[in-house]
Amino acid sequence: MEVKTICPYCGVGCGIIAKKTGNTWSIEGDKDHPSNFGRLCSKGAALAETIDLDGRLLEPHVEGEQVSWTEAIDTVAAKFNKVKEEFGPESVAFYVSGQLLTEDYYVANKLMKGFIGSANIDTNSRLCMSSTVAGHKRAFGTDTVPCCYEDLERAKLIVLVGSNAAWCHPVLYQRIVQSKKENPDLFVVVIDPRKTTSCDVADLFLPINIGTDVMLFNGLLNYLHTQGETNKLYVENYTEGLDEALEQARQSSASVETVARYCGLEIKDVETFYRMFARTERVVSVYSQGVNQSSSGTDKVNSIINCHLLTGRIGRPGMGPLSFTGQTNAMGGREVGGLANTLAAHLELDKPSDVDLVQRFWKSPVIADKAGYKAVDLFEAVHEGKVKAVWIMCTNPVVSVPNADFVKEALKKCEFVVVSESVQKTDTAEFANVLFPALPWAEKDGTVTNSERRISRTLPFLPPAGNAKADWWIISEVAKAMGFEQSFNYQSPSEIFKEFAKLSGFENQGSRDFDISKYAELSQAQYNELEPAQWPITNDQPQGTDRMFVDGHFFTPSGKARFISVTPRSPCNPVTAEYPLILNTGRVRDQWHTMTRTGKSPRLAEHSPEPYVEVHPDDMKQYDLLEGSLARVFSSWGSIIARVKQSETQKGGSIFIPMHWNNQYALNGRVDALVNPVTDPVSGQPELKHTPVAIELYEPVWHGFLLSRRDINFSELSYWVKARGNGFSRYELAGMQSANDWPEWARGLLCSSDNDVNWVEYLDRSAGRYRGVRLVDNRLESCIFIAPTHELPTRNWLASLFEKDQLTDDDRVSLLTGKPPATQKDQGKVVCACFGVGENTIIESIQSQSLTTTDEIGKCLKAGTNCGSCVPELKGLLSKLNH
Ligand code: SF4
Repeated sequence: MEVKTICPYCGVGCGIIAKKTGNTWSIEGDKDHPSNFGRLCSKGAALAETIDLDGRLLEPHVEGEQVSWTEAIDTVAAKFNKVKEEFGPESVAFYVSGQLLTEDYYVANKLMKGFIGSANIDTNSRLCMSSTVAGHKRAFGTDTVPCCYEDLERAKLIVLVGSNAAWCHPVLYQRIVQSKKENPDLFVVVIDPRKTTSCDVADLFLPINIGTDVMLFNGLLNYLHTQGETNKLYVENYTEGLDEALEQARQSSASVETVARYCGLEIKDVETFYRMFARTERVVSVYSQGVNQSSSGTDKVNSIINCHLLTGRIGRPGMGPLSFTGQTNAMGGREVGGLANTLAAHLELDKPSDVDLVQRFWKSPVIADKAGYKAVDLFEAVHEGKVKAVWIMCTNPVVSVPNADFVKEALKKCEFVVVSESVQKTDTAEFANVLFPALPWAEKDGTVTNSERRISRTLPFLPPAGNAKADWWIISEVAKAMGFEQSFNYQSPSEIFKEFAKLSGFENQGSRDFDISKYAELSQAQYNELEPAQWPITNDQPQGTDRMFVDGHFFTPSGKARFISVTPRSPCNPVTAEYPLILNTGRVRDQWHTMTRTGKSPRLAEHSPEPYVEVHPDDMKQYDLLEGSLARVFSSWGSIIARVKQSETQKGGSIFIPMHWNNQYALNGRVDALVNPVTDPVSGQPELKHTPVAIELYEPVWHGFLLSRRDINFSELSYWVKARGNGFSRYELAGMQSANDWPEWARGLLCSSDNDVNWVEYLDRSAGRYRGVRLVDNRLESCIFIAPTHELPTRNWLASLFEKDQLTDDDRVSLLTGKPPATQKDQGKVVCACFGVGENTIIESIQSQSLTTTDEIGKCLKAGTNCGSCVPELKGLLSKLNH
């Protein structure tokens, strides 16, 4: 059995095929899908490891008690109606997610804006790409992505700005790598404060100071103009506002020297970049969270678009600004009005005629006519008691929203919290008065839109588990119970999709960019068989539209694109003597968002099993930090503990911490607890890339690790982190108080009623060292290693023993050393997650077989031959060993 569907993680929107052999599902890339042509990254390839029922929420709950669907729905409907009647429609809110399908999103937006009558619905996509939305609207009049992925193959210059695509959008990065292989003339510039893995493909790397992008691109605008690179015909016929934008660019970025100094770059590098941009017609500027997640994110977006408008490099093959969206359906959320400041189908809340059009189409009793609370403001409103009932769908704001401890407090104080989740335990679900069991990816039915406007069908390959239901169904049932039966009487997602398609074409006649009216009359069979296509998709363009603005027509009142005059601004909170370092946050290669799904996959846990902080060597010295030790990082907003990694790729004065860890996987690893809650004044997007922080060595009395077949709860430790292994859980531990008796402590922690338990132990009481191994029937059940410092044996060989049903004599002899016997090898930390190839194995092969290229490593070990995400690391090892 085979089902074609879409990867649920990032905005690349890769097509996948779920295959069933016997009782086992496997995942492979869909060679026919135009986003990925069969490629998958490590996360997509590991999807089959995330679909079991372990930890699933399968029944509705009210106040912790399992209830029927009717009771849960009636409880929510009654409370939302009561709060609305007593305190007005602004007192209720939805916080939704780019993980919802378009049909779910559409219904949620319709209920809040058209029937409750408030625009208090915002999405977690606010945190990842709302600055792009705002920048598009300012320049084009609409939130329109002009390009398509194929432009990456047709470009001669690709500029990656604030985008570690190698880790965050790996399949598009692989398309760039492939394109460079086939076209060695392709020049790639990477602009980023960190030397990320994406620099592996870069011909030029500009390690820009955080937040100085507007200066760099204003400088480019000025340079292009003074060098006579203005496309006069294009500017005259299709744009407006150049003079003001240019004047501002001249004032702020008068010379290359000024730009280089401000941005922390070499003059010659800025000159090379400007020269390459000037002389290359086919330029694609790719940008992502490094641009968007800033208090001047919208201005950054417009400073990039300005350069494309000046040169007329938009709407033609191989050129244009192209934002990579964060989540699989971030774009779908933008289409249906998931943001608190837009209506459905790219209609606008601040245009009375649009508001009127939507209300007539929905035949709704009321309609919101002003923007609601954006994400950060929404949780402030909850904290202040202005919002008294909030429904959170498919997202985990206690982990992902800046000032995350404040969000936690807000939900604790909130009168009524509803959470729709597929997972039983999340940091946010802890605060729910009502928990709705929603369908996870493998059971969902609907559509998503990726970064290039491509709508694809997501099809379920598993039946709904337990009593879980689709989000569109849950929302519609609550709407009906609130008294809106007629307008939410949907029987299937296809009905919702057709209604949405109809709205997109309603009184449109080419006046709006978003139009999928071709789909308004689909039969169920046609909906099921929908081929991936890029909107607009109309009767005139039934196959969809690869590039926008081909004819130079934009959706502004004049029909011309607008240059936006932008001034460089520093990030809101500068570093101080008390908080002297800049915190930058982002993703790691093998985890997704708050780990509720990727955290289940053993192979994905191996690459980065612990929250870490990357620190430049100079800062390591300055703050007395040690590689592999623990550090406390703190800001005015909160504090966390993370493992220290020395990194030459980090700029001095700034540190990097990944965004993924939460309280289910780490005691104190939620980085957003540190992040300042300042936002871009236009888009409302938070400044997740710049928070002033301090760092200090965290010195527990003891360190340790535990590998155990059984999950363990720790109540009194100062530090613990959990990672899923193959058949066991791995815990990194530390404590401020030594146990009086380590063997007794270990037995208290690990013992159960198993028969034939056999303990093998080593204790050096005076040195504070203890090693205990617990065997049941000659099978490794658990092992715990304690030491006064963080220097402990590697976990790899011990971890491999959990795959054995019986230990050998050699294994038993070596157990307490934590190292393999001479007859076995420790493969080292996993580098290639797809094939589970470890660092020691790669090093040994490079040395013993004199390997000099990643292709040779691939031939020898398969490492790097699937998703390619580890290729930069392989190159790093080659260069270290061959020089
Ligand atoms: Fe999924 Fe990876 Fe493709 Fe993104 S690049 S959609 S995470 S397989």
